[in-house]
Amino acid sequence: MVKGNDIETVTLEEWGADIYPKLSWFKQNKVSSAHIMVVGCGALGNEVIKNLALFGVGNLVLVDFDTCEFSNLTRSILFNSDDAQKHRYKVEAAAESIKRINPNINVKTIVGDISYSVGLGLIRQMNAVVGCVDNRWARYCLNRLCMRAGVPWVDGGLNALEGVAKVFIPGKNCYACTLEPSALAELKRSTSCAVAIKRNQESGRVPTTPVVASIIGAVQAQEAMKLIHKEELESGELTSLCGKMFCYDGQYMSVRLISHQAWDDDCPVHENWSPIVKSPLNNLNTVEEVLSWLKKKFSTDHVEIVLRNHSWVDFIEDRESGKIYNVMLPEAEVPAFIESDEVLRSKPMGQFYQHTIRNINSDFKDKDLTLSQLGIPEMEVLYVRTQNEEKYVELRVGSEELGILVQTRGEPS
Ligand SMILES: [Zn+2]
Repeated sequence: MVKGNDIETVTLEEWGADIYPKLSWFKQNKVSSAHIMVVGCGALGNEVIKNLALFGVGNLVLVDFDTCEFSNLTRSILFNSDDAQKHRYKVEAAAESIKRINPNINVKTIVGDISYSVGLGLIRQMNAVVGCVDNRWARYCLNRLCMRAGVPWVDGGLNALEGVAKVFIPGKNCYACTLEPSALAELKRSTSCAVAIKRNQESGRVPTTPVVASIIGAVQAQEAMKLIHKEELESGELTSLCGKMFCYDGQYMSVRLISHQAWDDDCPVHENWSPIVKSPLNNLNTVEEVLSWLKKKFSTDHVEIVLRNHSWVDFIEDRESGKIYNVMLPEAEVPAFIESDEVLRSKPMGQFYQHTIRNINSDFKDKDLTLSQLGIPEMEVLYVRTQNEEKYVELRVGSEELGILVQTRGEPS
């Protein structure tokens, strides 16, 4: 017991000590030292986070770009009316609630979008990722990141009285491979520009109830707990849902397990980004500084950062009038730029030509911009191309590391 401010709390090691050891597979040290990321803090995310906190998972990362609204309160145990009144970020309200359950849990919150706001270096630290998202594009991005990082992930989906849960383990099962070619083609078509992605996400919302969210969220949390217990899974003491789909139908009270496995060797998503080159760089360094470190590190003048998750838009052109609008923003921020301009937002999307930069090299004009200004998150892994090789260079966490770089600037470590 820990006593502080007259409140008695238990440590993570003591958490559930009276009951969980009675489960043959439950290993307290694995659970209290585990790192799990939950992407999406809606109805499903609330249930998953609550269950992981009750199990005493030691380290949680919560990702969501949204704020709490009154309409969320019907199915979100971690939010209250004050959160909705103040439109607090969902990740912050959720983090505060689970801290009240167990103050010893480390919680990191990211207000952002899984398709571009979360560094691969952070995902690489996870034992498992739980996806509680409501659209195909977010699942596709999450799957791609987990493949690159070599981390298993658990998917959940709700639709009215029905729900499904699935597990994807790199090397065994892949979300993109389970999609029909027509669905993949549709995904590519509908995500060809940032404005379309946003509109697509907003139109994909489905009605959910707290009951279905509880059932599917519980299955997802259970599967994440199994993934923490890797040795018990490998020995057969635990059995993963990987390769099957858990389907619940609340209307007809049916629960089915359907075979759901696909691994096509030609799938372009099956990249594993390794080996990782650790660097003293972070996303507050300028393009100039990063390029110069990379050149020295790899002993070549030919280095290029390929923006695999992010694109830089320097201008858009109105095809009809030929008028150029200087943008200078990450592609993800272009929709807000268009929406904020009265003239631009009144025109159809197809009317604009968007000039996008995906390769940052010595020719890049704005080398005094920081990686963060280019939209690159902290702990991202940069995809770097030299003359004849590809390198995966991991950035450190944000600002507090800058001092280290100043000392070692120009000296490859
Ligand atoms: Zn695949």
